[in-house]
Amino acid sequence: MTTVAACAASVVLTRDLPLADTVALAGGIATGGFLIDVDHAIDYVFVERQRDLRPGAFLNYYVEGRMRRTVLALHSYELFAVLIAAMLWLNSLPLTGYVLGALMHLTLDLMFNAELTPRSIAAFYSFTYRAAHRFEAVALLGRPELRPPSGFWATFFSGAQPTRATPVTAVAETTPPA
Ligand SMILES: [Zn+2]
Repeated sequence: MTTVAACAASVVLTRDLPLADTVALAGGIATGGFLIDVDHAIDYVFVERQRDLRPGAFLNYYVEGRMRRTVLALHSYELFAVLIAAMLWLNSLPLTGYVLGALMHLTLDLMFNAELTPRSIAAFYSFTYRAAHRFEAVALLGRPELRPPSGFWATFFSGAQPTRATPVTAVAETTPPA
């Protein structure tokens, strides 16, 4: 939804540019904002070795927190640094769009996925940090208690949801004294 809004805003803001430039920027934003999550699909097939390629099976696998490893190459500060350097160097509109869309996506991932894990979500998006933990999901994300998925589209739009509103680490603080 945010990607659609960002693409629409970009088209409006760049309406005085040649059409090819408007399309290049908006296409980059769409790729960075939405298709960046293709690395989940790459993990699913090549790292998790899952063979059920139905969209619902793929979605539930992640929403239920069943993944064993999280390589997630595109969700990496290190790659962002390289792409931002390339963007400044090359002055390319599609790449600029990709970086803008992907930065928006990563910001939202940082905000919303923080509710799901007791571990540091800021550290999680470092490729080096994940590699140092051999990409093991439990070591990186803990074992969040997640609500069971409810229908494809509801799950697609809501994503993984914790069973309680407070992160696992906050539970100890809210437990009444003995
Ligand atoms: Zn993401």
